[in-house]
Amino acid sequence: MEYQAKELFARHAVPVTLGRVIEDAADAAEAAETLGGRVVVKAQVKAGGRGKAGGVKLAADPAEATERARDILGMDIKGHTVRRVLLAPAADIAEEYYFSFLIDRANRDYLCIASTEGGVEIEEVAHTNPDAIAKISIDPAVGVDDAKAAEIVAAAGFPPEAAEVVKSLWTVFIAEDASLVEVNPLVKLGDGRLEALDGKVTLDENAAYRHPDHAAFEDKAAADPLEAAAQAKGLNYVKLDGEVGIIGNGAGLVMSTLDVVAYAGEAHGGVKPANFLDIGGGASAEVMANGLGIILGDAQVKSVFVNVFGGITACDAVSNGIVQALELLGDQANKPLVVRLDGNNVVEGRKILAQANHPLVTVVDTMDGAADRAAELAAQA
Ligand code: GDP
Ligand code: MN
Repeated sequence: MEYQAKELFARHAVPVTLGRVIEDAADAAEAAETLGGRVVVKAQVKAGGRGKAGGVKLAADPAEATERARDILGMDIKGHTVRRVLLAPAADIAEEYYFSFLIDRANRDYLCIASTEGGVEIEEVAHTNPDAIAKISIDPAVGVDDAKAAEIVAAAGFPPEAAEVVKSLWTVFIAEDASLVEVNPLVKLGDGRLEALDGKVTLDENAAYRHPDHAAFEDKAAADPLEAAAQAKGLNYVKLDGEVGIIGNGAGLVMSTLDVVAYAGEAHGGVKPANFLDIGGGASAEVMANGLGIILGDAQVKSVFVNVFGGITACDAVSNGIVQALELLGDQANKPLVVRLDGNNVVEGRKILAQANHPLVTVVDTMDGAADRAAELAAQA
């Protein structure tokens, strides 16, 4: 969120005004008073285009700040409920620029995108006035030194003093392990100073171990409770919108399982996959139980499709895992399970499930057949 991005900016000497974050409109007047009276009230949600959506409003005095905070708190902006607003002194804007650093995967380097046509969505500028956008690639081995900062500023058409801000933003990008640092608008104020008036930072979760402080940025209220529970158990789970719970081993297999279920679901009233869950290679009974527990905890789930290709962890081990997981879960296991096993020790694996003869479990030999059965069971439920 903007106020969090600005905290990161402040750490690395990017010029910002931190302002005050409030969750209750009753606190707006006092906050506005301490900020000088004339303020901007800004919705704090992880979505762009807040201004257009009515989530950024100027207030001439503390009383008006209360009104605007009341308007904006609770608003829905692109599916995000506004739970906090940022109050900051209203800036006297002379010019609005766009600036970002990001990873350019195709070119295996970093990219800077900069434009003097800021304030509006950059996609729009790219469409209407592509020549106004400068794209400067950055050699990862060199980074943004004085020469590169000067090159960026010249290419973008920024005032020369912007080079210092560019270098500070580069420090944010590198020191915080970000995959995106975006400022829109970076403004030139009436008195000529530069300031980041908005900020968006995407942090690389793979680097989280180097930044224990980043955990505080997570918006727990906005996180899906099932995803949070899965994360706590170390599971690779993404909640989706459908009715067929999915468990598989290996990200590629799970992705194709989602496709096959969505396709099969078309013949059964449009049922869809309910989640992505990859239990990985070493699928022990405990991991299987944790995974099933999360999926069965999703009230939207009507059937579960367990799709496993036995490799290093052979099918018989997976089958034992399923049987033990169902024992562990007891009454919590209350939705039909369709299991498709193939690969290493498949005959033994199927035998174990046949012997267990669990009333909720159906074994289907092919992936398409199992997807169809799981979709059918979800549609019937
Ligand atoms: P976004 O719409 O989500 O990108 O939110 P921004 O923080 O970028 O704000 C949108 C627009 O509101 C900016 O481009 C500015 O034109 C305007 N704005 C934001 N803060 C101020 C301020 O302090 N003073 C003035 N005059 N305008 C502001
Ligand atoms: Mn913006």
